[in-house]
Amino acid sequence: MKIGIIGTGYVGLPTGAGLAELGNEVICIDKDEAKIATLRQGKSPIYEEGLDELLARNTKAGRLKFTTSMKEGVEEAQVVILAVGTPQDPTTGEADLSYIYAAAQEAAVYLSDYTLIATKSTVMVGTGDKIEQIIKQVNPKADVDVVSLPEFLREGFAINDFFNPDRIVVGTESERAEKLLRELYRSFADKTSMLFVKRRSAEVIKYASNAFLAMKIHYINEMADFCEAVGADIAQVAKGMGLDSRIGAKFLNAGPGYGGSCFPKDTNAMAYMGRQAKVNLSLVEAAIRGNDLRQANMAERILRATSGKKDSLIAVWGLAFKSGTDDTRVSPAMTIVEQLLRNGARLRVYDPKAMTNAAKKLGNRVEYADTPESAIKGADVLAILTEWPEFAKFSPQMIKNAMRGNRIVDLRNMLSKEECRAKGLAYECIGEIAGG
Ligand code: NAD
Repeated sequence: MKIGIIGTGYVGLPTGAGLAELGNEVICIDKDEAKIATLRQGKSPIYEEGLDELLARNTKAGRLKFTTSMKEGVEEAQVVILAVGTPQDPTTGEADLSYIYAAAQEAAVYLSDYTLIATKSTVMVGTGDKIEQIIKQVNPKADVDVVSLPEFLREGFAINDFFNPDRIVVGTESERAEKLLRELYRSFADKTSMLFVKRRSAEVIKYASNAFLAMKIHYINEMADFCEAVGADIAQVAKGMGLDSRIGAKFLNAGPGYGGSCFPKDTNAMAYMGRQAKVNLSLVEAAIRGNDLRQANMAERILRATSGKKDSLIAVWGLAFKSGTDDTRVSPAMTIVEQLLRNGARLRVYDPKAMTNAAKKLGNRVEYADTPESAIKGADVLAILTEWPEFAKFSPQMIKNAMRGNRIVDLRNMLSKEECRAKGLAYECIGEIAGG
């Protein structure tokens, strides 16, 4: 099948590479010339495990191409996938749909034979109707079905998630669109259920899912605060809760709050849609407020560990919003770092993958370390902000030997508290008070 993907980012690129691997002819379109130039040189502009190999293999086989030309990418495509960004409007909290509408408008000009337009971007309910109107206005002869095809991949696992999706949700009531999409995903038929629903239902499924996951994280974080107050241990509480199959063990890791390019903006858009529809989405609203507050509290916690000494050196392990990605968009780690800097803290930072993206925002306001070891050398406090597995491998003795001070604030509960404390480190984690 010939497929054009508009928007070659964290969603568009793994999707394009995955669809090419399935044997389709894919053209990835982006208006960012530098990104397309990088891809044409055989390099990936983002870090995602397994992506480089997939790009190399499919580009070499001639199944995957990159272009800045909408005409080239769309003209012959049977399926056009919209995967452009839908960032948060900073004033209202709604999703800014201008990129998706612009992409639909630009693509519409080149549509001729029947084309399926699938929206993978996360868009507010009713956006599919508007895309359809735009296409009809620009090109009244265009023969299209506009379907919602929400994306559920997780950054850091994008390739795995592409080939092993939990579910494929399609919002359409068109039989020919359903037939075409069943054909596109036929190799997943044995292992994945395809759910065909009304377009508006599919749009809501994406937001309802992300808001639920964000609330689950916020809930366990509130429980962590409660555990600290009453002398319980959140790790034990989460384990006990997670054994209940109705609750499930996933997303019960207490931490510095949810972040990334999706949960914060999608919860805000959900709350906005609730207000517009005059429906009280009090749980979502509470999670948003509580999550913002939490990150501020976490920065305070680290500052307290310096005992107010302005010349303290704080080593930061982790800047990406989670492990497995170089993405620092709305990263709790970055929010905390910014707050520490506003309070005059001296920081030396390290992240295995996100240094380039972080440096674009932090500039020369922090020191950069090449390794976790060099980050903590002579530091007074170690703050662990992202759950990269390599951090868990460090022995408390080695950390103690390298640091000047002995305080660790582990916001990801990665190190063994028993071992740290046995080595004389003043170790603080989430959801448990030392000696509690
Ligand atoms: P991104 O910012 O990484 O990529 C978007 C790309 O679209 C950019 O490269 C941009 O240059 C390009 N673009 C914008 N307008 C264009 C146009 N008119 N023509 C061609 N290219 C254009 O964004 P992302 O993280 O891939 O997210 C894309 C969408 O998918 C968003 O709606 C997001 O909410 C949703 N989503 C993201 C994830 C995730 O994990 N990142 C997961 C599920 C859903």
